[in-house]
Amino acid sequence: MAQRLVRTLCPDCKQTAAVDKPGWRELTHPFKAPVPDCCNVPVGCLKCRNTGYRGRAGLYEIMLLSHGLSEKVDAGCDIDAIRRQAIVEGMRTLRISGAHKVAAGMTTIEEIMRVTPAGGRFN
Ligand SMILES: [Zn+2]
Repeated sequence: MAQRLVRTLCPDCKQTAAVDKPGWRELTHPFKAPVPDCCNVPVGCLKCRNTGYRGRAGLYEIMLLSHGLSEKVDAGCDIDAIRRQAIVEGMRTLRISGAHKVAAGMTTIEEIMRVTPAGGRFN
């Protein structure tokens, strides 16, 4: 299981904005996630000391050890193959976990990109 903490938007000053579509595509690549109608962006106020962010939330990537995965583990330690198999079997990557939080207006694309590795890579 992998975990990252992202900063969440300040509830007092965040504003609704149009979604940055190229950013969303990069965030959700190689998956085809529908672009949300809108998202929230940081503004800044006294309560968040003008950062636009207040509080943190966890992103999780959980890999269940399925039959297909355990075969790969037995065969050696090709970590990329294990990860690909896990994604095939529906593992939600950290970025997809983050994309759900962006769609829910809790945080931003930039913040998820800052703390998570690119979709295809393992680190
Ligand atoms: Zn604020």
